[in-house]
Amino acid sequence: MEIIDIHSYDHYIVTFSGGKDSTASFLHLLDLGVPRNKIELWHHLVDGKGESFMDWEVTEDYCRKFAAAFGVPIYFSWKEGGFETEMLRDGVKTKPNFFVTPEGLEHAGGKAGKDSTRLKFPQVSGDLNVRWCSAYLKIDVGLMAMRNQSRFIGKRTLVISGERAQESPGRAKYLSFEPDKASTASRHVDHWRPIHQWLESDVWAIIERWKVVVHPCYYLGYGRCSCKWCIFGNENQLAASYFLSPKQGDKIAAYEKQFGKTIKRKGDIKEWAMKGQVYEATFANYGTVGLMAVSETYDGPIFTDHWLLPAGAYGESAGPI
Ligand code: SF4
Repeated sequence: MEIIDIHSYDHYIVTFSGGKDSTASFLHLLDLGVPRNKIELWHHLVDGKGESFMDWEVTEDYCRKFAAAFGVPIYFSWKEGGFETEMLRDGVKTKPNFFVTPEGLEHAGGKAGKDSTRLKFPQVSGDLNVRWCSAYLKIDVGLMAMRNQSRFIGKRTLVISGERAQESPGRAKYLSFEPDKASTASRHVDHWRPIHQWLESDVWAIIERWKVVVHPCYYLGYGRCSCKWCIFGNENQLAASYFLSPKQGDKIAAYEKQFGKTIKRKGDIKEWAMKGQVYEATFANYGTVGLMAVSETYDGPIFTDHWLLPAGAYGESAGPI
């Protein structure tokens, strides 16, 4: 922070998953006095605009209502067909990406590249070549949205994301500040990870101070707000997800059979879920938060005067390595 002038940018783009770390990063920007009219949230819809397959049904609406409550714009982007369509690629090119801009819906891509076949889930790996969900459904979608909007030409843009060193040895190696991949001679874009050195306790502290109600999954006992069926999920997370969404679990199991390849190396998704314990909070809050988490409407508040640490805080946090 001695090197960069945080107030020297025209645009501040927070890559906002709806999880606690991107929430903390956004709140930190507000604490630093970055004007809200320069901040925008970008959320990549993992399942595209269709039916939910891997992600929480409620995430899109939670993010929308979070942004509205803070008075900042949110722009959604996605790959056509999302996770399921990309997974089912069979001798064809990847689909185009769509992104909402201040002027409306735009799209790009889907024409170049090789015809190729996946017919398997992403691999549980730090290598984005095989863990294709992160690359194809998030990183590339964001890059394409940035590269195809002329409003960033001749401007200084800061992309903010919430990775923390404490999360994994892989993330510990990330730089807290670097040029963004979208930066060119005519479009200056930097990437800042403002909470890279924060502990989880720092994250909950800023969320408590701002009295923010976090994504419903945390109140169900999940320690990490990833896809509901994240490939990194452990036994307990998968057991809880199976309890909440048995039809989706069966659909994933059917794809594992069809592909002849499971998501996890040791056992199929049903075996993993059977080994786990549904979180107590998932049972306890099923009729309220649980049903909301698997609905497309977020009916809860964004702020509360009666802030409570969610059941998932300091819990299991099985995530990218
Ligand atoms: S949350 Fe998990 S499954 Fe979803 S895109 Fe990220 S790594 Fe893939």
